[in-house]
Amino acid sequence: MKILVLNSGSSSIKFQLFNIEEEKVLAKGLVERIGIGDSAIEYENIEGKEVNKTLDISNHRDGIQDVMDILLDPEVGMLEDIDEIYAVGHRVVHGGEQFAHSTLITDEVLDKIEDVSSLAPLHNPHNISGIKVCKELLPGKPQVGVFDTAFHQSMPEKAYIYAIPYEYYKEYEVRRYGFHGTSHQYVANRAAELMGKDIKDLKIITCHLGNGASITAVDKGKSVDTSMGMTPLEGLVMGTRSGDLDPAIIPFLMEKEDLDTEEIDNILNKESGLLGISGLSNDSRDVRQAASNGNHRAALADQIFNYRVRKYIGSYMAVLNGVDAVVFTGGIGENAGPVRANILKDLNNLGFDLDHKANKVRGEEKEITTDKSKIKVFVIPTNEELVIARDTKRIVENK
Ligand code: AMP
Repeated sequence: MKILVLNSGSSSIKFQLFNIEEEKVLAKGLVERIGIGDSAIEYENIEGKEVNKTLDISNHRDGIQDVMDILLDPEVGMLEDIDEIYAVGHRVVHGGEQFAHSTLITDEVLDKIEDVSSLAPLHNPHNISGIKVCKELLPGKPQVGVFDTAFHQSMPEKAYIYAIPYEYYKEYEVRRYGFHGTSHQYVANRAAELMGKDIKDLKIITCHLGNGASITAVDKGKSVDTSMGMTPLEGLVMGTRSGDLDPAIIPFLMEKEDLDTEEIDNILNKESGLLGISGLSNDSRDVRQAASNGNHRAALADQIFNYRVRKYIGSYMAVLNGVDAVVFTGGIGENAGPVRANILKDLNNLGFDLDHKANKVRGEEKEITTDKSKIKVFVIPTNEELVIARDTKRIVENK
């Protein structure tokens, strides 16, 4: 059974074709620079055959058509007939309060996704256009939406209501939603499997540290709090996003610098975080390299990033009344041993005992604490596409 997974962004489409019974990726790739010139497609199939070519791709329809064409290519494709695709799973960033689970997409569901788009104007419209193009190019094929926010819909009110007039929640749905849910859910479940325990008996803190970063408290398999908020701007320090800050800074800077709402939004989302503090780069590798060459602002950016994660781990240990396991995932969490070591440095009193040799691991599943450690720490590469493919199979089979 073949399932196509699509992640349609503003100017890119990531895709993977799964043989879902065997949970194997038959082919995967990326369409880039849609509508901005020099568009390209990168592709690799399970036999290691690769294609990298530039194409004229002006919109999502052209991009998804190119994905279909390459999947059907007699040389490198993995399909003989487009009908071999059983269903399509789509990543959808914001499901608002409407979607607590992955959902079969009907016209009514599509309308509801459009309704919540004002909460994620930079993301949802592109996810929606991916769904609409598939309806046109693959008529009658079932499609499933898998929402970044869904896993966090289990949070209690006390974790998701902001302390501003309650009317704004009622009127505009201003509340914490949280993101990266598919990733947090996947790595929490994998940690339970690696521990040989039922997730219902575990308290887990999952740290998704990439260019976007968030952390979640998972109690008995359910998200009970998470660091991102109504939008992905709140919480941890990120590549270019500030994360938490005193809200009074916003009107203060708007006045001082004569900024409009779009300009301040841009500063907080695109010019802050590691980039803003270091003045050099949003990429944690560049920042740490500069820090090791003696650059003070780069060292400060690295320290503030780590310190914020450490603070959240501590606060989520209080939320959960202890923790059994902490998981690191995302580009930084999976690969950067020194960042993990710095976050957990000298936390023996709280029950962490890092195994520094094991912590050298990059990009593979590994327990990185010693046998003495009361709290286990794992590195677990995330796999959101697999969750999307699994959910798509389950939902289409049960429809
Ligand atoms: P993501 O958004 O999950 O792709 O993560 C991007 C971040 O991961 C960037 O800040 C990179 O510096 C970091 N990253 C990716 N690969 C590595 C690596 N091999 N070692 C250290 N950091 C890495």
